[in-house]
Amino acid sequence: MEVLFLGTSSMVPTKQRNHSGILLTHKAENILMDCGEGTQRQIKIAGVKPAKITRLLISHWHGDHVFGIPGLMSTMGADKESILLRIYGPPGTKKYLEHLFQSFAAKDIITHEIHEVKEGIIAETEEFILSAHRLQHSVPCFGYSFQEKDRLRIDVVKAKKLGLTEGPALGELQQGKDITVKGKKISAEEVTYLVPGKKVSYIADTVPCEGANKLAENADLLISEGTHLDEIKEKTEKYMHLTVKQAALIASENISKKLVITHLSQRYKSSADIITEARTYFDNAIVAEDFMKVKI
Ligand SMILES: [Zn+2]
Ligand SMILES: [Zn+2]
Repeated sequence: MEVLFLGTSSMVPTKQRNHSGILLTHKAENILMDCGEGTQRQIKIAGVKPAKITRLLISHWHGDHVFGIPGLMSTMGADKESILLRIYGPPGTKKYLEHLFQSFAAKDIITHEIHEVKEGIIAETEEFILSAHRLQHSVPCFGYSFQEKDRLRIDVVKAKKLGLTEGPALGELQQGKDITVKGKKISAEEVTYLVPGKKVSYIADTVPCEGANKLAENADLLISEGTHLDEIKEKTEKYMHLTVKQAALIASENISKKLVITHLSQRYKSSADIITEARTYFDNAIVAEDFMKVKI
């Protein structure tokens, strides 16, 4: 699993930071979380094919998170390889998208389905579960978590001792089924072990709240906004954002394993002070830069 940061700025983009966009890749799934202005260009520079994007998760309808949607959906629609884009967003997403495509000579828009989310599970496949958690911002806003499912792995040494090296028998054991070989019963429990699935969460624009805690809870990778340093927290609170300190405390109090701070104000020309503040409250913290990749 890999996370690619396409844009890491807040309201105003800078030479170094584009508007919000995060791409999570897991096997055949490419899940784009938010799509700020210019995301399409960032995708292109990163060498990702827009046609490969399977889902778009919209946190909220502030411009810095959505102005890239019509451009991306037009390009995807023009590419014959694109099939379907599943879009998830807060209540109002259907109306916003409809209005958006009426506001210009829309053409080649990718076939899509829209899911207006509520608190809880929003999609489930054999491989993973996607959940939405309500955040507290100046407009309806959701954060999202990607929970990979636990899976069984074969203990090769134990399997070899039992004379099992390859073939469909191993496949059945891996699915948790007991098998019989040459009259001898072998239970899946004997020769397999559990690999816990990884959790990746995205806390978009918010103040500290229950939803943010749920997203951070035991996350292997927590991506959180941290718009300002704590020294100007009155301003941060006024616009309903998190300070870097608050984001780090959310990670630490909810036992996240790794934190990436994103959605940074244009006022910060370097990441040095952001890293220092984050690590004061949570050791395993880094600051996102455009085109940064994190493997999980
Ligand atoms: Zn924002
Ligand atoms: Zn916002």
